[in-house]
Amino acid sequence: MKKNPNRSTALIAHAYQPPAGFAAMQPAVHKASTIYFADTAAMKARTWKEKTGYTYGLHGTPTTFTLEERIATLEGGKQTLLVPSGLAAITLVDTALLKSGDEVLIPDNAYGPGKEFARHELARWGITHRSYDPMNPASLAAAITPATKLVWLEAPGSVTMEFPDLTMLLMTVRGKGIVTALDNTWGAGLAFDAFSIGSEGIALAVDVSVQALTKYPSGGGDVLMGSVTTRDEALHQAIKATHMRTGFGVGANDAELVLRALPSLPLRYEAQDRAGRTLALWWAERPEVAQVLHPALEGSPGHAHWARLCGQAAGLFSVVFDQRYSERQVHAFVDALELFKIGFSWAGPVSLVVPYDLAALRPGAPHRGTLVRFSLGLEDVADLIDDCVQALGALNER
Ligand SMILES: *Cc1c(COP(=O)(O)O)cnc(C)c1O
Repeated sequence: MKKNPNRSTALIAHAYQPPAGFAAMQPAVHKASTIYFADTAAMKARTWKEKTGYTYGLHGTPTTFTLEERIATLEGGKQTLLVPSGLAAITLVDTALLKSGDEVLIPDNAYGPGKEFARHELARWGITHRSYDPMNPASLAAAITPATKLVWLEAPGSVTMEFPDLTMLLMTVRGKGIVTALDNTWGAGLAFDAFSIGSEGIALAVDVSVQALTKYPSGGGDVLMGSVTTRDEALHQAIKATHMRTGFGVGANDAELVLRALPSLPLRYEAQDRAGRTLALWWAERPEVAQVLHPALEGSPGHAHWARLCGQAAGLFSVVFDQRYSERQVHAFVDALELFKIGFSWAGPVSLVVPYDLAALRPGAPHRGTLVRFSLGLEDVADLIDDCVQALGALNER
């Protein structure tokens, strides 16, 4: 370049390099679509399969590589891929591992949008999905056919919170050449170890653990991201190939927000668990309530399985209101809440509620009526209880 380039060029091809060795608490945020190669030979020799260098922003930056390694550690896994949402983590696993003619089995209480993906998208590609009752391992055994290639697990189920016997479910699938994938969003890598579920000397593990990093790892209610973690290099590479071809990259600013929140994850999870159990126990004593669905509460479906596997629980539970309350009355209660906001997702600082019609959600459920799912934020739990007390006034208005 000439000595005195024009100003517009000088602003771009600038000679200044800051000193190396900037050591600070948080990792740097590296943003790029383009990444330079030193020469054409380096460009020709590029490989996106190993994390030995950089090829294009979509396939990784120092920021996303750093977050991938930390999520792998959180999950007790070896390799992690980042995707733009928790739902994208589910759809990536489906599209990477299934082909026309294959079958995938999904628990009937699984996260709804994952089931919708199977119903509408996988079906168009000639991939069949069938649901099984995760609380009855015989139902899983009966659903397996030679075409079954992937079995989804979720612990506990979304909204109705049944905690399955993961050991028995994994035993049922073992040795059949079927990949098992767990939606581990609730456990967040903290409540139990997805890659070590063995009991009585039997080593059992899921093959794939996905998380909505949107929830606890982000903790802010302001990031959408998902992760796909494995321990087997060949399985990781199979999913990674589809990850690359589908263009499921994440932005460095979002990765930064999750990196910043990870150190406080165990503290937040514990605090939200404590608050969740306090509020769930309070609801369990209320005369308006038919059932509280929280795996750490005795009498909740799958409590014994939870107790065997987990020490902790997410700050998330559902309350089934007694049938004598109409849907309109329960909605009036929800609308009267002030600290609890009405909205999807969970694990941010603000407590949230979502009402569901239990009969529509789970036709076979033992109770009828309207269910309200509570997710605990980080407010003082005494204030949250006061909020519920004041809003119960609206429930009883006719
Ligand atoms: C929220 C959630 C997802 C999806 O995460 P998004 O980032 O919102 O797409 C998947 N599974 C479970 C269990 C969830 O709670």
